[in-house]
Amino acid sequence: METKKMKFETQLIHGGEPSPLIERAVTMPIFQSSTYEIAGNSSGEINYHDIKYVRLNNTPNHVALHEKIAQIEQGEAAIVSSSGMASITSALLGLVGPGEHLIAQDNLYGGTLHFLKEFFPKMGREVTFFPSEQTDNLESYLKKNTRGIYVEAISNPLLKIPNLREVVNFSKRHDLVSMIDNTFPSPVNFNPIPFGFDVVLHSATKYLNGHSDVVAGAMVSTREIVKKIMPLFNHLGGCLDPHACFLLHRGLKTLGVRVRSQNESALKVAKALEKCSKVSKVIYPGLVSHPDNSRAKEWFRGLGGMLSFEFDGTPEQADLALKKLKIPFLAPSLGGVESLYIRPAIASHSGISRADREKLGIKDNLVRVSIGLEDSEDLIEDFKSALN
Ligand SMILES: *Cc1c(COP(=O)(O)O)cnc(C)c1O
Repeated sequence: METKKMKFETQLIHGGEPSPLIERAVTMPIFQSSTYEIAGNSSGEINYHDIKYVRLNNTPNHVALHEKIAQIEQGEAAIVSSSGMASITSALLGLVGPGEHLIAQDNLYGGTLHFLKEFFPKMGREVTFFPSEQTDNLESYLKKNTRGIYVEAISNPLLKIPNLREVVNFSKRHDLVSMIDNTFPSPVNFNPIPFGFDVVLHSATKYLNGHSDVVAGAMVSTREIVKKIMPLFNHLGGCLDPHACFLLHRGLKTLGVRVRSQNESALKVAKALEKCSKVSKVIYPGLVSHPDNSRAKEWFRGLGGMLSFEFDGTPEQADLALKKLKIPFLAPSLGGVESLYIRPAIASHSGISRADREKLGIKDNLVRVSIGLEDSEDLIEDFKSALN
């Protein structure tokens, strides 16, 4: 049986692995070679497209990783890259050309938002933002030159879930290319391609690798779309180094067990935080109090390891209380084995004014937490003693 037809957990371990095994090694070896000898075809002719070179993302470590990631996202093909932003910017530039227009959700990851606002127009593209809660009037954003729509499966840090069904239907009605950043749910909780999206993007730095020791990205789509982006991607040069490929490949094998555990722990911690006296509001898609709870449960297999809460007090008091935490580290990024927390007003969203933050619903006393793999009882004890 081909691994393509197997289940997710089996694909994580066996999908894309070399067969037969290389020197019978059960783990894919690292091919730390930038270039490869050219064999030529049977009549000795040399074709440029047969050249293997790390920047072309086609060495054995890339090939294995591409197949594994394509399988777990249920797409035809994948490309890994040197960061999530390398995948995102390459996809945006490759699929929305000069003179063309993109419709994008307003509360995107900071890097993506900044790229679209600052650089996309300078590169001859147009973009219009829509509020992620309002997907019922997307037609009103449509222009003659609209080429694509871009959303995130779960937004940061308020963990909103746009009406993805309406986004997909809109995109199909107008023959657009639909792109989704699936970093937060990871393919354990959601597969956008069978749902109807054309292009899936990941910061593999987060859950896919899962150990806070690699920066990487991935894009999954049809063979045709991946082929279309490849020349631009190869020239922009955002390739993934073979050693980083190996680490990501290794991290991926435990994606299922990691994320399922993080789903469970985050729900437990969210429920415990609701009872803490110094917490005025808890935001987690798995709580019935979350506005998108019903669609989240309908579309997602699990609700992820990310949660946010509002501290009952000033931002300074919040910082003082959070300093008492012994387990989570104060650090940006997410999706690793260790729990992390951050106050978005001083980190990911510090670049925008307080007024604009308030408009987005991001208060200065909002705290975002990435739940790791520590025992949830220890995490709960830690939060309780800091926040009661
Ligand atoms: C971190 C992140 C990115 C950017 O990824 P890098 O690997 O840091 O380039 C993009 N989207 C989301 C949702 C992220 O969390």
